[in-house]
Amino acid sequence: MFTLLLMALAADSLSNSVDRGISEVLARERAAGYSAVRYDVAFTVPADRRQPVEGVLRLTLTLSAPRRIVFDFSAPKERIRTVRVGDTAVVPVYVEDHVIIPAEATRQGDNRIEIRFAAGDEALNRNDDFLYTLFVPARAHLTFPCFDQPDIKARYTLSLDVPAGWQTVANAAEAGRDETGDRVRVRFAETKPLPTYLFGFVAGKFSVERATRNNRELRMFHRETDAAKVARNRDALFDLHAAALAWLEEYTSIPYPFDKLDFILIPSFQFGGMEHAGAILYNASGMMLDESATQNQLLNRASTIAHETAHMWFGDLVTMRWFNDVWMKEVFANFMAAKIVNPSFPDVNHELRFLLSNYPDAYSVDRTAGSNPIRQPLSNLNDAGQLYGPIIYEKAPIVMRQLEMVVGEQRFRDGLREYLKTYAFGNATWLDLVRILDAKTPDNLAAWSRAWVEERGRPQFTTSLRLSRSNTIQRLTITMTDPQGRRIIWPQRMRITLGYAGAQKDLAVYANARDTVVREAVGLPKPLFVLPNGAGLGYGLFLLDEESAGYLLANMPRLGDALTRGAAWVTLWDNVLEGRVAPGAFIDAALRALPEETDEQNTQRVLAYVSRAYWRYLPQQERLARAPVLETALRAGIARANTTSLKSAWFSAFRDDVLTKDGTAWLESVWKRDEKIPGLPFVETDEIAMAMELAVREVPGWQEILQTQLDRTQNPDRKARFAFVMPALSADPQVRGAAFERFHLLENRRREPWVTESLAYLNHPLREADSERFIRPGLELLADIQRTGDIFFPSNWTGTLLWGHRSPRAAATVRDFLAQELQYSERLRWTILSSADDLFRAAGLSVR
Ligand SMILES: [Zn+2]
Repeated sequence: MFTLLLMALAADSLSNSVDRGISEVLARERAAGYSAVRYDVAFTVPADRRQPVEGVLRLTLTLSAPRRIVFDFSAPKERIRTVRVGDTAVVPVYVEDHVIIPAEATRQGDNRIEIRFAAGDEALNRNDDFLYTLFVPARAHLTFPCFDQPDIKARYTLSLDVPAGWQTVANAAEAGRDETGDRVRVRFAETKPLPTYLFGFVAGKFSVERATRNNRELRMFHRETDAAKVARNRDALFDLHAAALAWLEEYTSIPYPFDKLDFILIPSFQFGGMEHAGAILYNASGMMLDESATQNQLLNRASTIAHETAHMWFGDLVTMRWFNDVWMKEVFANFMAAKIVNPSFPDVNHELRFLLSNYPDAYSVDRTAGSNPIRQPLSNLNDAGQLYGPIIYEKAPIVMRQLEMVVGEQRFRDGLREYLKTYAFGNATWLDLVRILDAKTPDNLAAWSRAWVEERGRPQFTTSLRLSRSNTIQRLTITMTDPQGRRIIWPQRMRITLGYAGAQKDLAVYANARDTVVREAVGLPKPLFVLPNGAGLGYGLFLLDEESAGYLLANMPRLGDALTRGAAWVTLWDNVLEGRVAPGAFIDAALRALPEETDEQNTQRVLAYVSRAYWRYLPQQERLARAPVLETALRAGIARANTTSLKSAWFSAFRDDVLTKDGTAWLESVWKRDEKIPGLPFVETDEIAMAMELAVREVPGWQEILQTQLDRTQNPDRKARFAFVMPALSADPQVRGAAFERFHLLENRRREPWVTESLAYLNHPLREADSERFIRPGLELLADIQRTGDIFFPSNWTGTLLWGHRSPRAAATVRDFLAQELQYSERLRWTILSSADDLFRAAGLSVR
């Protein structure tokens, strides 16, 4: 029966009022009124990616009373074909981002709605022969009509109609398939309850590898063309997943909550990974490692896998109620990942790894004027992407480690078990967890949570030492202040390291007031240095006294403990940024210490600091003057390194930092394969990186180098990426200008890693003067970038736009822009302020 109800005209205009995007108000309305939501959704994917993907949604839901049903769907009017409620055709109300079925068309109890639509491409990541969905944080409604909020968990039954020969993979297992001619229609089983952001599928030309681990079949989908590379990596990838699953089942005492686990390696994926329930997506380059993979790359890979696997419990099984708590799932995933990878890498100093992989990145935002609190209010999911960043990925794990120390390891685990069990397949907030943990400890966790979780920034620490006449310590005080003047106290457990010839003393301190007296220090002899973040525990800006800074710069190799050296380097770097240690003195100290450094993690970190000091903080003439010494040291490092990964780290530093004629000539002969480095084999990605670094230095014949590299690149994805980046490497400023101009078109910004790589070369420090012209238009584009791009794109965009600049004029351009552009949201301004931090500091130092 067909009846046309023209309700749009009759409906009360108030019942059509709904904000753009997904507001918290709308989310509350729906969560309160809709239940038992089930999506049965079918997509038809044409072979030609210019043709739209068509879809049919059959949705059932229960209403407590007749009420309007508000779907999220972008550009609904152009894309909706038909809407039926039960057997009745309905003309819905179209407003931006929404399709509204009026209350009059609904009834109490079960409702059946069918919508035929054309899917938008924005979240489908369509390529010629594959596509993948990426709906986090609220992008599912760009593809199909849905309730795009995390706390309406629903079951999904998916069908995909794709060209024959394509692989398909989704959250649930395949339940059946029909092949007709050049098409195949695949039906998947119904999923467990999922929020929209975890629903996903991949279709296209992929190779599939299978393996059984602990009686579970795991599948890997990939597009790698190098068979040796696949063979080298496949077992490790399956093993890492199996180990993470086993560990998590033990820790949570909850069996893997979903029916199967596949993982899909996507070339140039936007993130390291994405935890779609039962179908994890990874960036292929982080998984398929080369023979020359560094220890860091191996660790990062294991951590990424453990992180995404942990999400199956933390995020997928129990989901935040609203995206203001998105950090929770991220912190748990990282926190679990750290616990999981440790046993697989017995040779690694894990405390040092935690320090180096969390503190520098957390500080990179928390030290800036653009820092944000871990937990932020969020009135509309349109802004959810801006919550992500180092504060939730790197600071929150530090905070969580502090919390575990306060609560105790066992009680903390028991609290998490209770939390997961209580809210399984449902939603919870941070405060729900604090309540569970607070009941298990005498400390006031609510107050603790306010300073660490609800406020932005970090404390500043100074130490003061009072000595007796016989040079023993009478009093050692550490003073915590709030650089932003709010007088916040960040209660924290820390260790104060006192250095002596051939020995060190670590004193445990609980700093929970402005001044904390270190009682155990009384009577000890005067130390050679005081390092307040000993054992890498304390969190903040630790201003070193002059004597301690001087000692550490001159004597780092004498510190016998790698963790102490790591903590000292992190602290010295902060003191460089504060203008208390000269960047040149830091580089000298690093080059003296590196030959004696025995821990690869410290070597990698210090090489990164050297590179940063060299490009971002040294004036150009000082950089040129230091180049021969630096390159000699880096070449010696390549020769001396006794592992492939260490050689690779030294070589990468050389490749990126080289400036002299001799140095670049040697790099070129390596790229030409004339020169071999014993113990360091190169693969396609290495040669691409070398070609790009040679080109940006405008070595003679740079055009030929680029062309040769393009021709000899085998992998089609890498070839396309290289071709895209090439104009950004041109010596011709006009070509570079055009390479920048194309980013005004959304179509040219779709492959975000290609864009940021181009932007990084356009703004390379060697092109500092010429590329100042990109700063203002780049900042003007940011709002568009934020609106149309994925979650890390805005900070990656501003980061690469500004990285090569250090002039006061460039700094003034950014400040002027911020002063004049008043339409930008606070969060967007924060993104700019954190990305500009190095620029502001470097410009400030050069004025000083
Ligand atoms: Zn994550």
